Amino acid sequence: MNSFYHSTRSKLDSVTSKQAILRGIAPDGGLYVADWLGQTKMDLAAVCAQGFHQTARQVLGILLPDYAEDELAACVEAAYGSQWDTPAVTPVTPLGADWLLELYHGPTSAFKDVALQMLPQLMSVARAGDGRDVMIVTATSGDTGKAALDGFAGVPHTGVTVFYPEGKVSDVQHLQMATQAGDNVAVCAIRGNFDDAQSEVKSIFADEALAQRLAASGVALSSANSINVGRLAPQVTYYFDAYAQLERAGVVKLGEKVTFCVPTGNFGDVLAGYYAKLLGLPVARLVVASNKNDVLTDFITTGTYDRRRDFAKTISPSMDILVSSNLERLLYYMSDGDCELVASLMADLGEKGFYQVPEGLLAKIQEVFACGRADDDATRAEIASTWNELGALIDPHTAVAKSVLDAVPADGTVRVCLSTASPYKFSSDVLAALGQDTSGMSGFACMDALEKATGTTAPAQLSGLRDLPVLHKDVCDRAKMGAFVESSCARVFL
Ligand SMILES: *Cc1c(COP(=O)(O)O)cnc(C)c1O
Repeated sequence: MNSFYHSTRSKLDSVTSKQAILRGIAPDGGLYVADWLGQTKMDLAAVCAQGFHQTARQVLGILLPDYAEDELAACVEAAYGSQWDTPAVTPVTPLGADWLLELYHGPTSAFKDVALQMLPQLMSVARAGDGRDVMIVTATSGDTGKAALDGFAGVPHTGVTVFYPEGKVSDVQHLQMATQAGDNVAVCAIRGNFDDAQSEVKSIFADEALAQRLAASGVALSSANSINVGRLAPQVTYYFDAYAQLERAGVVKLGEKVTFCVPTGNFGDVLAGYYAKLLGLPVARLVVASNKNDVLTDFITTGTYDRRRDFAKTISPSMDILVSSNLERLLYYMSDGDCELVASLMADLGEKGFYQVPEGLLAKIQEVFACGRADDDATRAEIASTWNELGALIDPHTAVAKSVLDAVPADGTVRVCLSTASPYKFSSDVLAALGQDTSGMSGFACMDALEKATGTTAPAQLSGLRDLPVLHKDVCDRAKMGAFVESSCARVFL
């Protein structure tokens, strides 16, 4: 069996999983996919009898076949150690008749830690056979940036440059990034929205002249966005581990199907659920939950992906996305590996701003994926009712998913709502949703008030931010992002 990855847009260029992780995105702009995905299944009975670490090693062993077992074991130990505030890593807790999969117990209080504590480990192993220094370049809608900074800070022979849309992340998210210490980190706000930042990062990766200049000084660029295989693969673990927790608690019987509802932005998290299904996890439905930026709801309903719409700034900013990059991978797998189709759909998206998938393809997607949207009012109402009626304090992203899940007709399956951030990352919006007047209050005043109102405690890494110095104040236009990357490479590596 071949163990290579290739682009969603062409099968000509095969790379190992290590190379795919170092490169991030394929040279033709496509995303790395593997035709053998799903041929090897996880042993579900074994998964149910073991913990998160063991499952992580097995999932990664299947998805990243050129890593040695002992390499992966060391990566897993380093990524899922005492930086997590619970040994369960991603615990499942009750949520009324449903279940909450808590993915925010890592060092930056967002689910991105699951992948971004692991990616630097995988990259270090991969670059050991390569010799070059690696500069990670990442666009963030809020949470990825800090999670990448935390994961890569201080990792030898790597650097990390983060761009975020100025004024479009929460106070706490902003401070999390602006206070990041480390000699190998760079942070810059850009004038524009997340999609501007993300498309410019894609152009930076496609800039051959820049790549050649950097290569001359022994530096290669790579991505920590969820388009990187090394970010996607670790996320598959918690779908299996959640299932194991439910099986051990007697909630599901071995083999019984489970529904997962996922607050979705770039389609990485929910795609990992689809990978889990391909690896043998009994999944009934994957429910794609969107906020007011509901381009995915329309797509899954009609088969037309149309980005020509206004970008809405919402209280769930990590889902404020009009181009969900990882959807390209789903199109590849659902079309049975039709690179030509994927390439032409992506060309349509680039040139016309929309594409329409063939009917048969839409039907296949709808067999697995359900969808729904929740605007800010529905999100706030959900935060309030979940706290008042179920005693669970959830963040706005999780509330979008919970609201959508409530609207999906119950089909008798056990249902898991993915919880992607600590409510304290968004204290002001959560407090306001609980009915308090927050006008004139700082992010930290809201954090304190939220503790008082609910009797819960903010994670120490968030409440401690108020005492840290702001180290990063750069702001630039989209056109200057490439130059910023080049200067941070010079500063970090030369
Ligand atoms: C990134 C993020 C999401 C969206 O995840 P995708 O993989 O981009 O779909 C949802 N919630 C939070 C809190 C996030 O940080």
